[in-house]
Amino acid sequence: MGVGVLAAEAAVFDRDQVRGKVIAVRDRSCRGGPPTIRGMNPSLNLTLLLAVGLLAHVALKLWLNARQVRHVASHRAAVPEAYAHTISLADHQKAADYTLAKARLAQWDILLDAVVLLGWTLLGGLDALNQWLLGFMAPGLLQQLALVVGFMLIGGLLGLPLSLLQTFGVEQRFGFNKTSPALWLSDLFKGLLVGAVLGLPLLALVLWLMDVGGAIWWLWAWAALVVWQLFLMAIAPNVIMPLFNKFTPLEDEALKARVQALMQRAGFRAKGFFVMDGSRRSAHSNAFFTGFGASKRVVFFDTLLQQLSPAEMEAVLAHELGHFKHRHILKMMAVSFATTLAGLALLGWLAQQAWFYTGLGVMPNMDGSSHALALVLFLGVVPVFSFFLAPLSSWRSRVQEFEADAYAGSQTPAADLASALLKLYQDNASTLTPDPLFVKFYYSHPPASERLARMQA
Ligand SMILES: [Zn+2]
Repeated sequence: MGVGVLAAEAAVFDRDQVRGKVIAVRDRSCRGGPPTIRGMNPSLNLTLLLAVGLLAHVALKLWLNARQVRHVASHRAAVPEAYAHTISLADHQKAADYTLAKARLAQWDILLDAVVLLGWTLLGGLDALNQWLLGFMAPGLLQQLALVVGFMLIGGLLGLPLSLLQTFGVEQRFGFNKTSPALWLSDLFKGLLVGAVLGLPLLALVLWLMDVGGAIWWLWAWAALVVWQLFLMAIAPNVIMPLFNKFTPLEDEALKARVQALMQRAGFRAKGFFVMDGSRRSAHSNAFFTGFGASKRVVFFDTLLQQLSPAEMEAVLAHELGHFKHRHILKMMAVSFATTLAGLALLGWLAQQAWFYTGLGVMPNMDGSSHALALVLFLGVVPVFSFFLAPLSSWRSRVQEFEADAYAGSQTPAADLASALLKLYQDNASTLTPDPLFVKFYYSHPPASERLARMQA
């Protein structure tokens, strides 16, 4: 290979020259001039795709939100007939007002997200952050880490005002917030610390694999992510969650006896029932299951224990056992691993295309790798398009809830679960009259009316 060829190669990767080409492309697009490569310019196409996709995304979300507002407001005046004897008008209207308040806040959230994404991409925010970091950091793993961390911190900071409004505005006004500003701040810093300790090594590993893993780096990165995820799931109940909440073994003897009898009937080994001090932060109540294998456990919020009778608690537990019986955690993990693999494979291809960067408002790095840029762009842009698939995952989740309800019905009287659910929906001020289309996109749990109707059937 002669010196001349090397010089030519160096010229191809000359930063200013590439920047010049991009500017030329942008200028052409401004003038509406003839497209370049084979009829269309892929970079310009991607810019258009993002613009159109984002517009559709925002329009769809705002439309769904407006539908929900209209539907809930128009049913606010009277309790639905089926609940006329069980739900008071005051409770019904509180649920409506709470839903409307959340929807109003969600509107701003939708708009803010879109503006922030535009700011990062087409308006050049990510490019500016990258150039600024390169101004005092050498290209390399550390600079790439700093870029991703900077992106996440700035995004988190921009989202803070709305999160504060949510907790100390809406939740406070409806009597749900029990978080003090001090606890809120300590949660924030603890979250950052846990995120740094657990997330930074993984991020460094993935960026490193992207750089050294060759054409199939995404397969290595996927394996690393899967192992990491399993590790996190294994340590979450014992290590991470106790950092934020107190978990005490269920002590109520009468309830414990019920619970153990149910476990025996259902063929589960009775261990791992915990009460969580959820009342420290919020008056909302819930129960959930977590972990797998030996770390499998069922967690009740202390607020739930105060609200439900022992028979109702047993029914709620039977529902959670239904999730175990149907292997919902395993299925969820399988789907999540498969979509991660597909996403990484797509990213593996996109990261090699110059138009992927330029089309989203970023200049790829000329010396050093652009993998952090690709990762951030991908994480930012994918949700714009994946939201259109939200009805699929919400539907799968709602089907699983029905399965768990059916299982509970086979183990405990259906009337107990029905009254427990009604109390739960009531105490959490969940509206009984959501917009059906809004439900299809957003609801991971079926609305009360559908669950109760199935139980009666
Ligand atoms: Zn469930």
